[in-house]
Amino acid sequence: MTNKDLADLIFPNITKTIEDYEKMYPERDLPEGAKVVRFAPSPTGFMHIGNMMSAVINYVLAKKSGGVFFVRNEDTDQARTVEGAVDFIHKTLKHYGIYPDEYEYEGKIVGNYGPYIQSERMEIYHTFVKHLLEIGKAYPCFMSKEEVDEIRENQLTAKKRIGIYGRFARFRNLPIEEAMERIKNGEKYVIRFKSDGDFDKKFVFEEQNKGKMEFPLNDLDFPIMKSEDLLPTYHFAHLVDDHLMRTTHVVRGEEWISSVPIHYELFQTFGFKMPKYIHNSLILKKDGDTIRKISKRKDPEALMFYYTEKGYPASAVIESVMTIANSNYEEWRTGHPDAPFYEFDFSPKKMSSSGALFDLDKLDNISKNIISKMSKDELFVELTNWASEYDKEFCELLNRDIEYTKRILNIEREQKKPRKDYACYSDVKSKIWYMFDELWNKESKGYEFQTIADLSEVRNIVKTYFDKYYVENDDKDTWFSKVKELAKEFGYAPEVKEYKENPENYKGHVGDVSTVLRIAITREAMTPDLYELMRILGRDRMLKRIEQI
Ligand code: GLU
Repeated sequence: MTNKDLADLIFPNITKTIEDYEKMYPERDLPEGAKVVRFAPSPTGFMHIGNMMSAVINYVLAKKSGGVFFVRNEDTDQARTVEGAVDFIHKTLKHYGIYPDEYEYEGKIVGNYGPYIQSERMEIYHTFVKHLLEIGKAYPCFMSKEEVDEIRENQLTAKKRIGIYGRFARFRNLPIEEAMERIKNGEKYVIRFKSDGDFDKKFVFEEQNKGKMEFPLNDLDFPIMKSEDLLPTYHFAHLVDDHLMRTTHVVRGEEWISSVPIHYELFQTFGFKMPKYIHNSLILKKDGDTIRKISKRKDPEALMFYYTEKGYPASAVIESVMTIANSNYEEWRTGHPDAPFYEFDFSPKKMSSSGALFDLDKLDNISKNIISKMSKDELFVELTNWASEYDKEFCELLNRDIEYTKRILNIEREQKKPRKDYACYSDVKSKIWYMFDELWNKESKGYEFQTIADLSEVRNIVKTYFDKYYVENDDKDTWFSKVKELAKEFGYAPEVKEYKENPENYKGHVGDVSTVLRIAITREAMTPDLYELMRILGRDRMLKRIEQI
């Protein structure tokens, strides 16, 4: 009996060879320097900020170099697959404008290097596993899961290196006849790689961010094919897929760096060129006085749902991610305020190796800036798109009189220094609710006039203002001079400066009076420009509102 007999017993239906696949998926015909990259999430959870960082970096690398960006669904862990995770990945990428050149979704394959779903690539993996069996570089291992767990426990207690290597690799040298016999008897097995490595020897590996690194050679007989579903493990699928899909750069999470020796040995065994590797920085967050890894369980902002639910503009999220991905991004952005983010020349060397600090306050600032620069029409579209999903009642109000809504949104907008008060679309309602009578009727309770305590004085000031001073068509200067006159009439300084010089001569200043007017018609002490608000509300509605004081 030979290795070939064993391989044929395990894979009787595999007739293609590696050469066949090399021909089916030839080297890509791309210009010099073009990068072929992939975003390869596992649908074992919903897309998170770390995935987003990988996706964005991949996209920039491909775009900037005239290369290819593809999405691969790494669904080999079928037991842990989460319903809806794949949909969410594709929807999220679309929402952020990160369009893959090649992908497979909803039954459609786009690209010549697919299938792009690992569970559909079984025959390809089996061809590669079969080859390893034939050349004696893989073997069936009949250890039960319990046995492997026990070895691990013992290694832990004895403070030994974890894994199946050396004498722990019990089935490595099992005679072929016996292996075949066991398989024929229906015994369960996994296929393990048969490592040649010597753990005491080192090799040098050039990681794109961290530079030259030294690793011990791999000596683990790691599983390459699982017993339950005959699907490959991550390591083996990585080798097969990234080779056949002609990936030039692998961008992946920091947690994979310790697997480099395994991947190195696999690529060496097949004689394939290894792609270049960029291991992402860990994403960190500030938690009180400490800085820790962002957590999917503890931090809502770790999952991408957070940003769509809150209604952050897609570009704000991308800007924040780029800002932490590369240390010189912000500087580049200052010099190129209007350039698309993918024109940035991303450099793996400029990634933080100690971790990337993701800060929601910073996101808010970036986002406020972006929203402030939108035209009223753009903001209207973005806001109503968001509200149609997350606040239907508000959406109806916004759409009822579109021109009216746009006038509100346009206050202190479309000008040189626009107002920056919305960080996300879910902020908007809490800042302009009083402009909608339905919300006013429900929510205009529990307020105080803050600057003037005496309620009869407040009533008097407000009434006098509308009886005597307010004229609907006054221009802004005239309007303001009238507010000053009103202040004077009630013993408040018309200029703040004057009040500060001689406070004993006045009850307060014009600011106190205008605050009272503001609260009387909006119930808020902080609003955008009062003059504009008054014009939009109109006299009749304001009179009704002041009656309720
Ligand atoms: N499926 C792996 C993960 O989600 C991909 C790692 C890689 O990009 O190679 O962690």
